[in-house]
Amino acid sequence: MADKRTKRPWEATRRALAGELGEIDGVLPGSVVVRRMRCGKSGCACHDDPPTLHGPYIQWTRAIGGKTLTRYLSEEELARYQPWFDNARRLKEIAAKLEIASLHALEIERATKTGTPIPRDDPTSRVTRRRSTTRDA
Ligand SMILES: [Zn+2]
Repeated sequence: MADKRTKRPWEATRRALAGELGEIDGVLPGSVVVRRMRCGKSGCACHDDPPTLHGPYIQWTRAIGGKTLTRYLSEEELARYQPWFDNARRLKEIAAKLEIASLHALEIERATKTGTPIPRDDPTSRVTRRRSTTRDA
């Protein structure tokens, strides 16, 4: 494909990451833990050797407004929604990579424009200090 546009730095990487983002069609928050447990009843099979534990109990935990909410999922539900739990992690990874690629692009474009590479202690990499006098250009 002939593309006459001027490529911007890190464009291939950024487009590839954007494409990966486009594949994400469901995201569920929180974490899932599968537990098998013993009960308190002596003589229950869960106390045998080897034990037949109760469960699995599939605990889905997430934070809502500072509180922890726990719900249980069936094995069927876990199989159905596992990809959406995986997507949550994937989304964060892709977003982090996209951020890095974009930062590189900015640095390259800026260095190209000014003809000087950005020094390590560039003020744009710090939190801007508030000035007492604000001047709008
Ligand atoms: Zn038991």
